[in-house]
Parts: sequence; C-alpha cells; structure tokens
Amino acid sequence: MRVDILGVGFDNVTMSEALARGEQMLCADRAHYVVTPNPEIVETCRENAAAKDAVNGADLVLPDGIGVIYGAKMLKTPLAERVPGIEFGTGMIETCARLGKRVYLLGAKPGVAEQAAENLIARFPGLIVSGTHDGYFKEDAPVAAAIRDSGADMVLVCLGAPKQELFMAQYGEATGAKLLMGLGGSLDIFAGVAQRAPEFYCRHNLEWLYRLVKNPSRFGRMLKLPLFLLHVVGAKRK
Ligand code: UDP
Repeated sequence: MRVDILGVGFDNVTMSEALARGEQMLCADRAHYVVTPNPEIVETCRENAAAKDAVNGADLVLPDGIGVIYGAKMLKTPLAERVPGIEFGTGMIETCARLGKRVYLLGAKPGVAEQAAENLIARFPGLIVSGTHDGYFKEDAPVAAAIRDSGADMVLVCLGAPKQELFMAQYGEATGAKLLMGLGGSLDIFAGVAQRAPEFYCRHNLEWLYRLVKNPSRFGRMLKLPLFLLHVVGAKRK
C-alpha cells in the first residue's frame, strides 16, 4: 500500500529496497517507470490531473526531498527514508554496468548528455551507453523510436517535471526499454555542469537552501515548499 500525501501515493521503501525493485524491473519483460517526486512536483500534481495520473501510474514512486518525509510524518504515516532520485539513478547505472545492460541518456541542454555519458563510462567500467539525446525536442514519438533503435534496457529521462513523467507514461512502452526513470537535473550533475550540494547541506537536510543560494532564480519555484507544508497541515486538520 502506498502512503498518500496530498493525492500522490509514495512507496514506503528504503534505498536498498528501491534498488532491488529497480533490478527486478530492469530484468522483466515489459516497460516500467520510476518517479521521484519532491514537494514541488506534488504541488504540480494538485493542479495538473495529467501530471498526477502519470506520477501515480508509475511502478515505483520514491520520496525525493526532505519535505515529503516531513509531510508524511506530519500526516502520521511516516516513510522509511528519503530516496533521492540521483542516488537511485546512480545505483541503477552501477547495476546496468554489472549486468551488461544498455543505458540511454535523455534530457538537458545539447551536449550535456554526451558529457554525462563520458563521465559515467569513466566512473563505471563496462557501462554501455546506447545513445543520448538532448531534452529540447518538439516531437516525442521520434525520440521514443530513437531509444528503441538504440536497444536501450534503461533510460534516464531528465526533462524536468512534469514533462518527464508524461513522456514516460505515454511513451515508456514504445521505447522498448524495461526501466525508465524521471531524474530532473541529474544529467547536469553527472556531466559536471551543476554540482550537488556539499555533504554538510545534505546531512542537515538543507540541500534546497544550497540550490537556492546557487541559483536564486529558483526562488519562485521554492515557494512551493512552504505551500506544500501548508497544504499538509490543511489535510491533517481534515
Ligand atoms: N529540461 C529539458 N527539457 C525541457 C526542460 C528542461 O531537458 O524542456 C532539462 C533541464 O535542462 C534540466 C532538467 O531538465 O537539465 C530539469 O532540471 P531541474 O533543475 O528543473 O530539475 P529538478 O532536479 O529540480 O527536478
């Protein structure tokens, strides 16, 4: 049973359980997709029914963002732990390298996915990257076909929310891949174009603060975090 937070159902799993489920899906015979909603995405889902269906339709819904963990606690349905998308993605890339599965990198600005591929191949010996594509395309179907033609087993879909969730829900099967995951800005981090918050911020659950200081234009987006907590308080009262 999933833990409901403002209409989004989260799987109550630890990182190692999530990775075990990911490996099962990767070795299955149909397409699966994983989403990693943070409070901002939950807020998007409250306003956008198609986004909400795409998120809830995922095979695995992982709590990314400390806000989701707080929200679950406030609603007295605590989740085991935070499962950051980028860490889940990294673990699954390692699994692909170990099993000889092929990975496709989709998203971010032109050139970023190629750089991410180069860095990941250096980091995970034996990793096969079947192809890359930037995230600024007009038509989805040709991109899904390119992924299929590459023979990918797993796809990192890094198009930002809710574009990546909608793409996976609609085209997951058409890509021929067994496992797709929506990972936001992860390709920028794998490519070294953006940095993950230093250990201190992560340990103190202040990753959001680091991202805000680094990129003040995110301020508008970040207002969704207090809004999310307000909505959780409202849901609790009901
Ligand atoms: N992006 C994309 N296509 C688009 C819009 C965004 O490929 O049409 C990429 C963008 O370049 C960035 C990622 O999607 O690499 C979204 O990053 P963001 O910081 O919004 O994601 P978060 O990690 O906060 O969910």
